[in-house]
Amino acid sequence: MTNIKKPASTSLLEKAHTHMPLGVADSYRYWGEDNTVFVKSMKGCQISDSDDQVFVDFRLAYGPIILGYRDNRVDEQVIRCISERGTISGFSTDLDSEVVSLIKSLCPNIEKMRFANSGTEAVIGAVRTARGFTGRNKVVVVEGGFHGLYDEMMWKSDVDNWDSNTQEKPEIIPFGAGIPESTREHQESVPLNDFAAIDDVFARLGDDIAAIVIEPIMGNCGSIAATQEYMQKLRDICDQHGAMLIMDEVKTGFRVAKGGVQELYGIKADLTTYAKAMGNGYPVAAFGGRGDVMDKISFDKGGVTHGGTYTANMIALSAAKATLTVLKETDALATINKVGADIQQVLSRVFDKFGIEHRFAGPDSMFGVHFGNEVPQNYRDWKKTDSELYTRFAFNLIANGVMLEPDSREPWFICEAHKDMDLNWLEEVANKAMEQALKD
Ligand code: PMP
Repeated sequence: MTNIKKPASTSLLEKAHTHMPLGVADSYRYWGEDNTVFVKSMKGCQISDSDDQVFVDFRLAYGPIILGYRDNRVDEQVIRCISERGTISGFSTDLDSEVVSLIKSLCPNIEKMRFANSGTEAVIGAVRTARGFTGRNKVVVVEGGFHGLYDEMMWKSDVDNWDSNTQEKPEIIPFGAGIPESTREHQESVPLNDFAAIDDVFARLGDDIAAIVIEPIMGNCGSIAATQEYMQKLRDICDQHGAMLIMDEVKTGFRVAKGGVQELYGIKADLTTYAKAMGNGYPVAAFGGRGDVMDKISFDKGGVTHGGTYTANMIALSAAKATLTVLKETDALATINKVGADIQQVLSRVFDKFGIEHRFAGPDSMFGVHFGNEVPQNYRDWKKTDSELYTRFAFNLIANGVMLEPDSREPWFICEAHKDMDLNWLEEVANKAMEQALKD
């Protein structure tokens, strides 16, 4: 495998090892001693590493960058807000309602909202509100989905070690140590697009289920998408059983369409979580939905608690206001979709040249690339794709100036600033990377 790390990042990682576990601030940033990336600066669709190598970036910080790094339309508003008004006071501001109104104008399913500082916090808020409203505890999640780093959501189906001949289902295992077994108690997991599995879980637990939590387009599993019929099935079964349908739009919100996946499917969630693209890289998140459900957040007896020192801070909300205004008033998303479609064509030509069967999944603004002859329908199907070839291909792209996550479960993210990139250059690099990957 091509090593991508060079002298400056080598010494930064060595130094960082004395200060932080794995030498990184987030475990997923550790790509091994030879490949861990240290970034110096970002602009547009590019990042520069500490060795001054420039990359065209399709990872985009796991999705938040929707317009481009250091977009003046956003940054100027944030800087003005900080210098003229401040950051936090621990009180409400006019920005709170202004941003919610903007979101409501883009996402008509939202009646009331609350803010949070990260996707994880937004999911915690939505799940707690759903539980408070229904008076139930069980939550159904989808294999291969991801909903943040908190104990209850840190259980996954062990599809890697699943023997389908001897085991009916994969075992459910924690992400690692430190996650109490008791946090598993209320979670059920089903494969995406499997009607029988969802019928089964509701037949067994029906009236104990507070919510289904789903990424309808799995931003954490190669953008594998729920079918229209499957989403309708979830809507119907939730209605029949009085359960909440929570759509986790942390990655898809304000990206796949102005109104997120709900605009694409025309199916309404009871509660939705947003983060990433809503602030073009500033730390902001939100959850909201049905007014009667959100109004469960109250000081009444039996009310749901929600808040936080940094919630709705003015850095976050001024960034959200500026970003959402651009997304609402310009055709940025149309541009992003066009560039995403063009990039898939480039990649297809390269894969065809080498005779590699491939399928794209998900929307053009965040598409998954899968080596195989069928579009995966769920995580179990993803396991059948040649993800090892993808990882080799990805590392060779990175070595040649195209940044992406070397794991095909992470989609290619497109931002508006990609519109100026040179597609011929991309094709050349992709050719070289695939040629090498087939030899590695
Ligand atoms: N939900 C989804 C769908 C996500 O993709 C993520 C993060 N990748 C989260 C929740 C958690 O968000 P954060 O990292 O901001 O806590």
